[in-house]
Amino acid sequence: MTSAPLHRDARHLALAQVGEQGQSRIAAATALVVGVGGIGCASAAYLASSGVGHLLLCDFDTVDATNLGRQVLFGPGDIGKPKATLAAARLLKQNPEISITAIAERLDDKALAKAVDQTDVVLDGTDNFATRFQVSDACVTAGRCLVSGSAIRLEGQLAVFGPDYTNSPCYRCLYTEADESLSNCAGNGVLAPVPGLIGTMMAVEALKFLAGIDSPRGVLRLYEGGSGEFRAVTIPKRADCAACRQA
Ligand SMILES: [Zn+2]
Repeated sequence: MTSAPLHRDARHLALAQVGEQGQSRIAAATALVVGVGGIGCASAAYLASSGVGHLLLCDFDTVDATNLGRQVLFGPGDIGKPKATLAAARLLKQNPEISITAIAERLDDKALAKAVDQTDVVLDGTDNFATRFQVSDACVTAGRCLVSGSAIRLEGQLAVFGPDYTNSPCYRCLYTEADESLSNCAGNGVLAPVPGLIGTMMAVEALKFLAGIDSPRGVLRLYEGGSGEFRAVTIPKRADCAACRQA
């Protein structure tokens, strides 16, 4: 007796929390990855390998030599080429059964809203507050789940927001425009695997959301690489938040 060859999803199908139902939800889903840097490379790689049916990879930037330590989808021959296009081509080789759309341009509010509308979950691993606020506002407006992460030095953080913002916070409840002067990843030191760790954890959260596995909202998870410890901090919903107050 011959049995059917095991599919790449076999270990998900064997997992009680995912199973056939969860995996078909993952396969039917669209995820938007904003920022294909150190975080986005890791998130996108696991979303692709896990069989998320359609990935939108958004990054207007091109690869430079200083990216190569962290941005593991790229090599020296990719310098000067667009990250979104390169990542899409690379991940399609990893999993030819999914579809991937590369968006190698900076999206204005309208284009971003259109992209977010098409998606079930959004992952933001960008390195600046202006984009993070723009992405969060689009997710609140469209009622989409946002998985947000950042990394700097030996530290990383991660939080999941939405898709229901009525009683739970948004990214703007955590940070305000006044924080914009705080550190920005570009030009700062970062230990290479820390963004990879955060991006991988973001993929876990996105897959849990897509498969229908419950996860707490309004919790900021902080990783401190120096001590190797994780902490969790509650994010209160701000009564005066301009973005999610009336959501
Ligand atoms: Zn808010």
